[in-house]
Formats: sequence, C-alpha cells, structure tokens
Amino acid sequence: MKDLALDIRVEKTQNSRLSEVDFNNIPFGKIMADHMFVADYSDGKWHDLRVVPYDNFQLGPATSSLHYGQAIFEGLKGFRNAQNPDEILVFRPEENARRMNVSAERICMATLPEEIFMQGLHKLLEVDRDWVPDTEDSSLYIRPFMFATDNFLGMRPSETYTFAIITAPAGKYYSKALKVKVEKEFSRTSPGGTGYAKVAGNYAASLLPAKLAAEQGYDQLLWTDAKEHKYIEESGTMNVMFDIDGTFVTAPTIPVEDTILRSVTRLTVIELLQDMGKKVEERHISVEEVISSIKNGKLRGAFGIGTAVTIAPFATIAEDGIDYDLPTDYTFSLELKAKFQGIQKGELEDTK
Ligand code: PMP
Repeated sequence: MKDLALDIRVEKTQNSRLSEVDFNNIPFGKIMADHMFVADYSDGKWHDLRVVPYDNFQLGPATSSLHYGQAIFEGLKGFRNAQNPDEILVFRPEENARRMNVSAERICMATLPEEIFMQGLHKLLEVDRDWVPDTEDSSLYIRPFMFATDNFLGMRPSETYTFAIITAPAGKYYSKALKVKVEKEFSRTSPGGTGYAKVAGNYAASLLPAKLAAEQGYDQLLWTDAKEHKYIEESGTMNVMFDIDGTFVTAPTIPVEDTILRSVTRLTVIELLQDMGKKVEERHISVEEVISSIKNGKLRGAFGIGTAVTIAPFATIAEDGIDYDLPTDYTFSLELKAKFQGIQKGELEDTK
C-alpha cells in the first residue's frame, strides 16, 4: 500500500461476539464479524472514514436506494497465510475495487477512490483479524457495498451515498457437484443492460427463475443470451468453463459481451490454465455445442467459477427437461481448485 495513509477513525466494540462462534460449523452469511468499515459521500466528497462496531444503519423511509435500486456490491475472501497464520491474505482486492467503480458508473453512483476501498479493508481486517477462520476450506467472506442515501422520492441519481464493508466467517460452500438447468424462459439481464455490473437488481431478477429451478431439483441455472436463449452466459453467481477435449471454453465478458459479470476468480483460472500449457478460448458457446459434446463424449467436464465456490464442478446439465450427466471421473477441476486455493492461502506463489 504505497498511498498516503488516510485518516480512518477506529471505535472498537465493548461486546465482542467472537467467543460465541463455532468455527467448525459456520452457516454462510449469518454471523457477521464485530466491526464494519463505513464512509459517507456528500457535496462531491467521501468523508468520515471509520471502523465502528457492526450495527444497523439509520435510514429514512424515502431513502432512494430502497425505491430505485441504486445499490451495488462486491464479494471477496480473506485467509490466514498458511506459512504465517498471523498474516491475513486477501486475493487481489484491487480488482474488486475497480469492478465496483465499473458498477457505480453504470448506475450513476459516485465512484470510490481505490485507496479508500483498500485502506478501509486493511484497517477493518486489522481490527477483526481474529475473525478469520483457520479451519479447512474456511475463510472470511468480505462484502463491500454502496447504496444511495438521498431522502428524496424524485427520480434522479442520488447525491449522497454510503460505502461500507462487512465481513462474515464462512465454511465450505457447495460440497457436491452441481445439477444445472439451461434457462430459456427468463433472463438475468440483456444487451445494453446491467449484467456486467454487480448491481443489486440483477440478483433480484434471478431469484424467481432460481427458485423455480430449485423446485424442479436443480442447484443452479445456466443463463443463456436474452435474445435467442442459444448461447451460454454464466451460472447463478459464477462464470462457467467447459473442458471440450482438453480445450477450456468460456464465454467472453466486457468489452465483447455486456451481459456477463467479469469474474475476478476466472481471470486467475485462465492464467493458471495457460501456465499449465492448456488451451483457453474466450468465445461464444452454444447450448447445442455443449449438449452434443456430452453426447459424443468430447465434454470431459464443466465447472462454475466464482469467489464463493472457487471452482464448482457440474454433475448434470439439463435442457428442455432432459438431464445430461457429465463424466463422473473428472478430477481436473478439483486439481485446479486445490491450486487456486493454494495461491489464496499463500502456499503457492501468485505469479501475477
Ligand atoms: N457472475 C456473477 C453474476 C456473480 O455474481 C459472480 C460473483 N461475484 C461471479 C460471476 C463470479 O465473480 P468473482 O469471481 O469475481 O466472484
């Protein structure tokens, strides 16, 4: 961190909840760490940077983000360094800081100087370092977010915002290979929309189709393009990759497609694969190509990629009510996951 240190006020809690947490049995997203980082924006400036006890916000009923959805978020993870457990490692947080500003610009919010994101995160983790689990497959999930705070019902971009970071210890996410359903009726976004941004409304739009798929026994959806429902975009909150005869194919993100969120995890997976001498293709991939590759035995495996899951192999892909099972002996995605997690935990070198 080469930037000048920002003035961040720290107020520590008198009532830590840490001793109440069973780190061997952590439900995802329910138990928040003791503190949060907060900054406010008004009159064109960010101010009052602070680490304070985790607590409710006071919001007026007319708070504009509650009505018009100017709200964005990020997600990343912190780990204890495997070599030196006192050190907390966060994987490439500057990528999330940048992507948050891409999201902010798309829905007319104030952008946040990268050093506020980085130094706020650093200070928060210093204060809540004991909340970073050291049990296997666990991490501290970090949730930066920003929302509009004008108390005003007029339809215009808010002039005030709050940025905050909260954290929550997290255990394993998916434990089994996923059954995913090709979604052809609903779309999560469309060309010209907000798919490439991490905008709260995108996730609201995905809830109903995901609920319907879950009722049919599927773990996740495979989103397809909004126009023809022909090309695969991503899955739930993951980018996807298909191993077709040893070539790793994944859908293109911005600037080619504006409907897909550019996964920070995927950037590293692509680098890892290339370092291993594998061929990676960022191109459109049709549902038809995937299903015919399953039928003719060319699809060796497929997996979702994202912060929460790291790498989640698929067991089944369903199209038009027919389940197509993928090879059950595909261990490469697990090797890749172990490599990636090794980098996150400081066991393997991050070559970037
Ligand atoms: N796609 C969507 C829609 C997501 O919400 C996420 C999670 N941020 C991802 C992909 C994976 O991105 P990342 O690797 O940055 O977590």
